[in-house]
Amino acid sequence: MDKLEHKRKQELDTVTEMIGIYCRDIHKTDGIKLCPSCQELLDYVEKRLAACPRMEDKSFCSACKTHCYAPHRREIIQKIMRYSGPKMIFRSPLLVIKHKIIQWLTAREKIL
Ligand SMILES: [Zn+2]
Repeated sequence: MDKLEHKRKQELDTVTEMIGIYCRDIHKTDGIKLCPSCQELLDYVEKRLAACPRMEDKSFCSACKTHCYAPHRREIIQKIMRYSGPKMIFRSPLLVIKHKIIQWLTAREKIL
């Protein structure tokens, strides 16, 4: 697996985990199988990630300037990330910290 594929997989793993937490808590699923709407969303994200033109230079979708997601999808994803993000700290601390730093740097870039 090359670096780019690794990055893609890491991002997909993060999104999969976040949707999983959200679906289990909010939609009361068993945490193994997603409900149909979350599964559909995950399929959508997977397709967007596979088609991402900026995988090489960008860090995470949430910090990316290219908006791949359709507005209503983006809204749902952001809602899921706000809910699951803090819970991810206990599961994958390093990934979350990395994510936060990148987000912070991106936000700073916009101000400057
Ligand atoms: Zn669900």
